[in-house]
Amino acid sequence: SKDAGGGVYHAYEPQLHMVAEERRVLEIALRNALANDELHLNYQPVVDAVSGRLTGFEALVRWTHPELGVISPAKFVPLAEDARLIAPIGEWVLRTACEEAASWDEPVRIAVNVSPEQLHNPNFVTVVAQALSQSGLPADRLELEVTESVFMREGTGAVQVLDRVIDLGCRLSLDDFGTGYSSLGYLSRTRFSSIKIDRSFVQSASKGVREAIAIIRAVVALAQSLGMATTAEGVETEEEHRMVEGLGCSKVQGYYFGRPLPVEEARALASHERRD
Ligand code: C2E
Ligand code: CA
Ligand code: CA
Ligand code: CA
Repeated sequence: SKDAGGGVYHAYEPQLHMVAEERRVLEIALRNALANDELHLNYQPVVDAVSGRLTGFEALVRWTHPELGVISPAKFVPLAEDARLIAPIGEWVLRTACEEAASWDEPVRIAVNVSPEQLHNPNFVTVVAQALSQSGLPADRLELEVTESVFMREGTGAVQVLDRVIDLGCRLSLDDFGTGYSSLGYLSRTRFSSIKIDRSFVQSASKGVREAIAIIRAVVALAQSLGMATTAEGVETEEEHRMVEGLGCSKVQGYYFGRPLPVEEARALASHERRD
């Protein structure tokens, strides 16, 4: 009855209300974030697993809210996706990453995260082409990271959009591999350059979880047989590095090799690397 359920709803309603209110406030602020210049990019090093040399950076977006401070992309990217703001934000990220990377002396590679929503717009190819031509960044230095969830929605043309981006000369990597919907069919249909193995597997493997070790080994073998590289994500310790290197991962990324850096520090790291 209504009475019986009343207490239950009373207990949860204020919490739900707060979440909705917080979302509403953040969404309004996010609409102005671009115009107010509140977004910037950090760059996390990606390193060759064996030689330890820098191969490139992953660009990670940051939002500094004037009152709330830095808000994690884990929080505001899903919000931007829901509020249909991910297209303009994603476009800003692409343009900024290409411009900043093109101004560096060193030809390191830049990886940019792309939301599924962006790929369901055929105009995305033009956005990428313009970011490249306006910045002068060679296409082969731009890598786009997409997650398996891109392939969940059918008939929306994301696969064709990815094909056309590869035709521009960009590289493609499959992010967070193993955490989402998995069908291996698209691995043969889309031309990925690399597979990024999620931190959850790296962590479990270094703790000796046999299933995680077996999965990493299988992903590395699969990637190798398809001519793709593998990047182990979220490597935090020397032990984790040794583990994933031993399992044959070609690249590594994580706090052990470097946190996401402000653009000037990333540029300095790249030029230091070059002089060695
Ligand atoms: P992601 O693409 O999987 O990026 C890796 C995340 O792991 C980053 O979090 C990075 O700072 C964090 N990380 C790196 N190394 C380590 C480590 O050793 N240990 C741990 N615990 N974490 C590590 P961040 O920057 O907070 O980004 C979170 C997510 O937000 C990203 O996950 C990505 O899905 C999304 N994101 C970030 N920037 C963008 C963007 O420009 N566009 C879109 N669409 N999504 C973005
Ligand atoms: Ca990523
Ligand atoms: Ca990832
Ligand atoms: Ca992730």
